[in-house]
Amino acid sequence: MAQKLAGKIAVVTASTDGIGYAIAERLAKDGAKVVVSSRKQANVDAAVNKLKSQNLDVVGVVCHVGKQEDRERLVTTAMDQYGGIDIFVANAAVNPYFGPILSNKMHVFSFFQIFDINVKTTFLLCKAIVPYMQKRGGGSIILVSSTGAYDPSAIIGPYGVSKTALLGLKKALVHQLSPMNIRVNCLAPGLIKTRFSEAIWKDPNNLKIVSQGIKLGRIGEPHECAGIVSFLASDDASYITDETVMVSGGANSQL
Ligand code: NAP
Repeated sequence: MAQKLAGKIAVVTASTDGIGYAIAERLAKDGAKVVVSSRKQANVDAAVNKLKSQNLDVVGVVCHVGKQEDRERLVTTAMDQYGGIDIFVANAAVNPYFGPILSNKMHVFSFFQIFDINVKTTFLLCKAIVPYMQKRGGGSIILVSSTGAYDPSAIIGPYGVSKTALLGLKKALVHQLSPMNIRVNCLAPGLIKTRFSEAIWKDPNNLKIVSQGIKLGRIGEPHECAGIVSFLASDDASYITDETVMVSGGANSQL
């Protein structure tokens, strides 16, 4: 039986580690050709080698999503190496600050940095990639938001608000992109075991406390976010757009 993403070309940002890597690996295992990227060449090389050792069809390129020339190189790499883009996963995000939102330590610079990387570059990459999807007759965009989007927390408030903005960006994009047969959906992970969330799970006592608030009683693994992205990217999801899927072990679940 044909793999569900056979013939598709995917671009995934921040995909040399964590959730992004798990997504890139899954898309490739499901038959897509995948452009893997992140800021550091050594990380890109290591991820590409790891994926190629599984006989997966991937190429790597350095892309700090905050740099225009890097974003352009990401798109041209996909076009030059594979000749198109069908799937775009906007996964890169930063959170440089922990603490109350109006604290003096919450510098305006950090606030802007969070919105620059998490929201503005997502918008700019969508803008750059959509014309190529249009040429292919359609596509699938998945924005990686967070369960924090629904309820920005007391300690990572600005980050949470940036993730709320992605839910809004999705809605705004859907209006314009639906007639182009480009679907836009969000993934909203709960607490997933990556470097990004290390501050929360590294201390065993803290891990125990947070796990008690999760219905499945544990935090998630990156690969548990990947299958749903592959599904949303595939033709099995051809009538699904403007949707957000939470992968949170039941934390923050909705009616
Ligand atoms: P992570 O493990 O820290 O991701 C690290 C990856 O991001 C690496 O490949 C890193 O490589 C790359 N990266 C970092 N900054 C980048 C930049 N400016 N441009 C391009 N690549 C960059 O993070 P994660 O936990 O997998 O998070 C992935 C996404 O899931 C984020 O959008 C995050 O907000 C969201 N999320 C995570 C959790 C969680 O609990 N982990 C929960 C909800 C939502 P380099 O160092 O080489 O750049």
